[in-house]
Amino acid sequence: MTRSLPPHGQTRDEVLTALHAARTEDIDWRDGRLFSLVYSAGPEATVLLQEAYALFLSENALNPGVFPSLRRFEAEVLAMSADLLGGGPSGVVGNMTSGGTESILLAVKTARDWARHHHPERQPPEIVVPASAHPAFDKAGHYFGVQIVRAPIDAGYRADVAAVARALSDRTIMIVASAPSYPHGVVDPVTDLAALAKERGLLCHVDACMGGFMLPFVRRLGYPVPAFDFTVPGVTSLSADLHKYGYAAKGASVILYRDRALRRFQLHAATDWSGGIYASPSLSGSRPGGAIAAAWAIMHFLGEDGYLRAAAAVMESVGRLRQGIAALPELHILGDPDMSLLAIGSQRLDIYEVGDEMTARGWHLDRQQHPPSLHLTISAHHAGMEDLFLADLAAAVVAVRRPGLRRRVVRAALGAASRGARAMPAPWLSALTGRARALLGGDGSLPARTAPLYGMLATLPNRGDIRELVLDLVEGFTTLPDRPDREG
Ligand SMILES: *Cc1c(COP(=O)(O)O)cnc(C)c1O
Repeated sequence: MTRSLPPHGQTRDEVLTALHAARTEDIDWRDGRLFSLVYSAGPEATVLLQEAYALFLSENALNPGVFPSLRRFEAEVLAMSADLLGGGPSGVVGNMTSGGTESILLAVKTARDWARHHHPERQPPEIVVPASAHPAFDKAGHYFGVQIVRAPIDAGYRADVAAVARALSDRTIMIVASAPSYPHGVVDPVTDLAALAKERGLLCHVDACMGGFMLPFVRRLGYPVPAFDFTVPGVTSLSADLHKYGYAAKGASVILYRDRALRRFQLHAATDWSGGIYASPSLSGSRPGGAIAAAWAIMHFLGEDGYLRAAAAVMESVGRLRQGIAALPELHILGDPDMSLLAIGSQRLDIYEVGDEMTARGWHLDRQQHPPSLHLTISAHHAGMEDLFLADLAAAVVAVRRPGLRRRVVRAALGAASRGARAMPAPWLSALTGRARALLGGDGSLPARTAPLYGMLATLPNRGDIRELVLDLVEGFTTLPDRPDREG
């Protein structure tokens, strides 16, 4: 563990050896056993991204006047994105950002400032989002003083238009729809939600962070895809992540607006600073040239046919997985996903235990709640693992159906703990903290068995306890251990 700057610089070889060694502790996602966080269009695409990123490693898009290359790349990435998303020559404008969260933060900040100008009486402003909308909206509300009102979703896990209508108040400024939602992969009824927004004079943001660079190609392949983009009247802004199904390097997303007048509320300029006149479009000041150049590069490398090929491979994997899961009577897919995000639930089994059995077999599935399910995001690099996955899933189901003695003991012990969770002693809590890492996607030291933990978290009487527990974890991620970690 390094706790202070090395007194003398190390050689390039020493540093690289250390980096490579550290990396061996990470999950190797290339074998298709990890179902979130990483999107890859294959080894050739990865090498191109590395080269493109490296070429513009030091360049800073904070001042595009100095780097006309970056200025053009960003403008072209935005034009290509708008064209793909129904905003061709219609006046749609936008910016590149560091990711979906920044795009959503900006959409919410823009809506807030639009409302301050046009509807100053709406205080505090409210944004109505479906229950399934990404937590980035809560984060944005938290940062910018906007109330996020969550409306229940329907039995198919899509936004319920009537419930959204009921959630509107005289302080509402915007309605949100997801295309698709992360948890269940279904596209909300964007046409109806945008029509509702239009009728009430509200803004409507479509969170197409997942679908923006996938759904247009899925549709061209002949799959039914509901309307979700700027072709829908009433949609005023849209976020789409290049670093997901755009297959770009991390740190690339777009936020698009129907017109310049709305985007104007996003921009910031400081004109009286002693350092000179300073203007910036997004949250970041300095902006990595590499992320912009790599996004531009991958869009040109793949082109329309490349994205179509990738989407076809993904949808074929999805088809096989859905078919295989349907053949397991204990399991089912939640709702009817429109794309390549699947949630697996069970009426009869503890689905978290199925998740543990899959972890024991080397698969990494995210756990979801309300209702409990396992989550899969299928990307181009998952092609070919379907049979292996389905065989292990079937075996996992069998294992959970016939629990061994050891698991029954663990379950009984943690069942007792859950009843006492509220008054949990500190050492217990820290032990739990070690285990709860998996909750946030983990740091590589994923515990083999998390089902009891999730069951326990679900039974904690006070959601605030969970929040504190999770924030403890977040703090822990940037702290070096005092002593060797005995949890791992
Ligand atoms: C991933 C995602 C986001 C957030 O994007 P980040 O790039 O992780 O910040 C927002 N909305 C949806 C639907 C997403 O899938």
